[in-house]
Amino acid sequence: MTKQELALEVIDRLKKEYPDAGCTLDYNEAWKLLVSVRLAAQCTDARVNVVVEKLYETYPDVDALAAAPVEKIEEIVKPCGLGHSKARDISACMKILRDQYKGQVPENFDELLKLPGVGRKSANLIMGDVFGKPAIVTDTHCIRLVNRIGLVEGIKEPKKVEMALWKLIPPEEGSDFCHRLVFHGRDVCTARTKPHCERCCLNDLCEKNGTDGGRDR
Ligand code: SF4
Repeated sequence: MTKQELALEVIDRLKKEYPDAGCTLDYNEAWKLLVSVRLAAQCTDARVNVVVEKLYETYPDVDALAAAPVEKIEEIVKPCGLGHSKARDISACMKILRDQYKGQVPENFDELLKLPGVGRKSANLIMGDVFGKPAIVTDTHCIRLVNRIGLVEGIKEPKKVEMALWKLIPPEEGSDFCHRLVFHGRDVCTARTKPHCERCCLNDLCEKNGTDGGRDR
């Protein structure tokens, strides 16, 4: 089986396993996802979803958040960790949206990348989830799973994994595929325990199935 064939089969099986998998950050406007992805660094999505409720109650739109003092934002977002740098990035980002994009989130990968605190992972997430464009989101689950499965070999650097996956994953499948990897990584192909290969829908395809080598890869 070629890597492309393997990728298609993995996509197919994960679709059946997690038909409704989507972004686990709550948002109803594009700028809110931008805020949440910044808060999600080294924090769980569940905690971010709670913290942003208070943030949006206090600052309900881009203009309000752009005008908010950084220390007030920090007070609210500090349960997510790295409060000062996250608050600083969110404030700077909202000011740019207000001043350069009429309060909208730019529908352009390179422009997203220029926003404070937005890296390739976040920019891809926004492109895929908000704009329905091709996207590969290489978070920790994605990197661990594609290495274990054998879609890439020994590549840990997020941008390199992303580039390798662009060659294997049909563009229109990328965003949902990555969301499904998150679900599978949390429930089955876990990081902190031995992966549960015995109940994995990929176990006859996966390179690491049944080997202790699956752990922490
Ligand atoms: S077979 Fe095991 S190592 Fe492979 S994807 Fe499934 S749980 Fe992970």
